[in-house]
Amino acid sequence: MNPLTAACCTALAACFTLSETRAQVASKESAKPRFDIRLDDPVARAAVQAHLAHPGARAQRRSAAELTRASPDLSIDFDEILGTPSFIRSSGTFLTAAADPAAWLTTLREYVADHRDLFGVDPGVLDHCRVARDLVTRHNGVRSVTLQEQIEEYDLIGATLLASFTSGGELINAASTLIPTPGGPLAPVLIQGAPGARRAIFPMSRLDLRPAWMSRVPETGTGNLYEVTVDAADGRLLARRNLTLHATSATYNVYSRSASDPTPADSPSPQSPTSCTPGVTQPPIITRSSQTLASLSATASPNGWIDPLDSATSGNNVSAHTPGGPPVAGSSFRAFDFPLDLTATPAAYPSAGVTQLFYTMNWVHDRLYQLGFDEPSGNYQRSNFGRGGLEADAIDAIARDSGSNNAFFVPAPDGSTGSLHMFVFTGPDPDRDGALDAEVIIHESGHALSTRLVDSLAAMQSMGMGEGWSDFYSLSLLSQAGEDPRGCYAESAYVAYQLFGLTQNYTFGIRRFPYSADPRKNPETFADIDPLQMAFDPAIPASPLIGSVIDTNASEEHNVGEVWATILWSARARMIDALGFPGNERMLLLVTDGMKLSPPNPTFIQARDAILAADLANFSGADSLALWTGFAERGLGFSAVAPPASTTTGVIEAFDLPPGLVAAPIASIPSLTEWGMVLLAALLAGCGALVLRR
Ligand SMILES: [Zn+2]
Repeated sequence: MNPLTAACCTALAACFTLSETRAQVASKESAKPRFDIRLDDPVARAAVQAHLAHPGARAQRRSAAELTRASPDLSIDFDEILGTPSFIRSSGTFLTAAADPAAWLTTLREYVADHRDLFGVDPGVLDHCRVARDLVTRHNGVRSVTLQEQIEEYDLIGATLLASFTSGGELINAASTLIPTPGGPLAPVLIQGAPGARRAIFPMSRLDLRPAWMSRVPETGTGNLYEVTVDAADGRLLARRNLTLHATSATYNVYSRSASDPTPADSPSPQSPTSCTPGVTQPPIITRSSQTLASLSATASPNGWIDPLDSATSGNNVSAHTPGGPPVAGSSFRAFDFPLDLTATPAAYPSAGVTQLFYTMNWVHDRLYQLGFDEPSGNYQRSNFGRGGLEADAIDAIARDSGSNNAFFVPAPDGSTGSLHMFVFTGPDPDRDGALDAEVIIHESGHALSTRLVDSLAAMQSMGMGEGWSDFYSLSLLSQAGEDPRGCYAESAYVAYQLFGLTQNYTFGIRRFPYSADPRKNPETFADIDPLQMAFDPAIPASPLIGSVIDTNASEEHNVGEVWATILWSARARMIDALGFPGNERMLLLVTDGMKLSPPNPTFIQARDAILAADLANFSGADSLALWTGFAERGLGFSAVAPPASTTTGVIEAFDLPPGLVAAPIASIPSLTEWGMVLLAALLAGCGALVLRR
């Protein structure tokens, strides 16, 4: 809680009861309901009704009846609390004749004087009003004014006169909640207002005015900002409304895990884990499901993914569209259900592709927010809701952009918009739409994350880790309980089909090896980023694209990234061994926090140490054994040495743990690897610094 919030809450103890304050803490995601004592409190409500039977109020209604009888085009509504003419208009005509438009106040005063019984106030009341709004619409010259009634210099809350005039000075319509001011003194002010609170007068009814304090009270962590009015005489809560627009749900027909699980499906043809045995494996196509939600997290997206009242693929986090096109409007209001035929080219289903892109990007926004990629951390949002950071930088996401067989993200500093460019993949016939492959989208979103959280990723090792982080998030954010981390996971398998002839896309995806914590399936270790040391066991299947699409150079950034992601994936497996599936979320948290704790242009060793530092800061180092064990089994052990970040040549890998750290009994790990046994044997034999050079 920031000091300002704390101060407001303390000073407002008079209105927020203790139990309310507790409820506020307990249910951060649910906004407090609107409250108006005059409608919601039975005693106050009875007084309102009694005062509406007052002779003055009855005279107003009688006057309206006479006027509408004489002019059938005239319609008059009444305010349910104050009994005033809340809307006066006439169909087909204006309320007054043409007049000098600059003399609108004179016109209005005369109209009120001519209809004194209807308004229930003397026209002199206009002299006690301040002009709260005065706007002229450029294209038609219509002037709309709002007069706020005051007593002394204090606003009478909700007591206004709205009037609009044509460019010829005719009164178009009027809306009044002006009330006669009683002659007697107001109740005394006995309660001190909170810092920043404004004195005002609250009409409990048309005959009962109360001194009041009005404050704006932010609710920590939710984006809710309340306007709270309290009685300045006795501290009663008089009114409360949430100034934050409530998020409303929208419906998306998208590839998702199931009708009851909004997690995006990996792709239209998901498989997780994928196949460790190379072969032509193309899992069945799933059907899309309908997801109705405002957002994944009301904290991350207080206004929802789409602003209330809007109905297009554009919101606070993301604007999604095709090149040069506008965001896609809903197929009906706030529904995004568009035809999608995977036997046709992606150009035949542009709206469905944009919808999937918008949905997945927003889901990722909310998930990364939960992991700490929030406003002060520099996330991408149009509005930051006063929660820090620089705003006006929602991501511009383009589906089917002009390019093929790839995707890219253009990062920008906080406060400047980043852009995501998704292509079609032209291997198969018909083409596959990259916007339907959540792993590609999350990979690119990973760049949005890492380039904002790590101060600089310009050096060779650091750039490679940027690619690795992106793969790591794409697989671990989409993982679910029960999946064996020592199985195989092909990165972006769906779009890789027939990519330069590849048919084993559900084994290798777009990388050299499937991701796996099992070294018999993915043999990569730290030294494999070093061109002078890279060597893989030829018995372990590798992608046939190596040497064509996939660079053979160990220091190519995606190859470097593969090694980093494999190291993270192995540490994650150890976290899952220790904690069960919650270890996945905890690893994501530590990796995200580790980026914030990283120096600019980190080496592998520095980035490793930043993750360990995050564990120390978050959990007093409770995960150090799991993390170290995972790092060490991939050569990033205690004695490993990284060359300067500007190169990947000169790695010294090591498979040891820090002194004093004893490996967990590996026998408890579900899928024990022989390799792990060898390591354990070595460690138990006292090889404290088992350095393997390859
Ligand atoms: Zn990338």
